[in-house]
Amino acid sequence: MQASIYQLANSGVQKLIPYQAGKPISELERELGLTEIIKLASNENPLGPSEKVKQTIQDNLGELSRYPDGNGFALKAALAEKWQVTAEQITLGNGSNEILELLARAFLSTESEVIFSQHAFAVYPIVTQSVGAVAKVIPAVEYGHDLAAMLAAITDNTRLIFIANPNNPTGTYLSEQALAAFLEALPEQVICVLDEAYFEYVAAADYPHSVAWLTQYPNLIITRTFSKAYGLAGLRVGYGLSSPEMADILNRVRQPFNNNALALAAAEVALHDEEYLQATVALNNAGMLQLTAAFTDMGLSWIPSVGNFVSVDLQREAAGINTALLHKGVIVRPVANYEMPNHLRISIGTQAENDFFIKVLQSVLADV
Ligand SMILES: *Cc1c(COP(=O)(O)O)cnc(C)c1O
Repeated sequence: MQASIYQLANSGVQKLIPYQAGKPISELERELGLTEIIKLASNENPLGPSEKVKQTIQDNLGELSRYPDGNGFALKAALAEKWQVTAEQITLGNGSNEILELLARAFLSTESEVIFSQHAFAVYPIVTQSVGAVAKVIPAVEYGHDLAAMLAAITDNTRLIFIANPNNPTGTYLSEQALAAFLEALPEQVICVLDEAYFEYVAAADYPHSVAWLTQYPNLIITRTFSKAYGLAGLRVGYGLSSPEMADILNRVRQPFNNNALALAAAEVALHDEEYLQATVALNNAGMLQLTAAFTDMGLSWIPSVGNFVSVDLQREAAGINTALLHKGVIVRPVANYEMPNHLRISIGTQAENDFFIKVLQSVLADV
């Protein structure tokens, strides 16, 4: 009986490999009895949640017996004002990952094909396979998306194309010009999911102002999150910006109370906390310089990244080095499951965390 229950799952699910999350600090503490541990593994904000957000959560504790606002009225109004869209164009998700899942459930069947890039975000194959659709993985070019090859892979069955801009775990990005040409060439029965989980960090002048494209392309959806730059990964809030029609479709498959009350309240406050966002970006820029300078000193190369993380090339299998780092209290992210066995992805931390990581990496590399 035990073995056969797997055969009852749909065939896509049978072949799924579960998402590997960064190891929680508490788990490493338990396993190795270490006291000093730093985690630079899940692209979280090293500043922690802002004081304003913490106060808001305190203020809202008394209402927890009530269901949250299922339509997220206040948060949608704040987002609509900030991005100059209408509330009808916004879909709120339990993290932006939920938006990706809603897209799969709303638009895919077992006949559908989904296109995404090699080395792209691990959630794309999960949502694709979980509904039994077929994933077409397009080889990357210099760790970035090959948009021409992605277009060329479209068939009559293609329904979704996932594009991460910037991409995780490579940190590569696509320019306004490249993406504009791609959208122009995209057949209208194919939905483009532009995943901008890290867009707040990007300063590049040629990074797209994608929201402006929404009026032109009803088959475009942009996804963003409060998990990264806004420091709210533990609360789970993300959103989609799209045509009202696409949002209406996603709203049909959405659970009625998918965002909890504290998350809705906190996200609204976080969105207005410009100071926190600026401090976040400044810390990230400094940390990126700190880490990449150290890599240069160590003779290591890395993939240039516009996100809050950087993937460093260890020029050998990274698994053993990762284990050695763990034993010295450093949690980073191996990316072998992204077909990058020689890289480790490091989330940018505080200056002290980055220092600690650099020292430990130096000592581990000296031992091999
Ligand atoms: C972190 C991340 C997300 C979103 O995560 P949520 O916490 O679910 O909002 C989405 N896309 C990419 C590429 C990411 O790295």
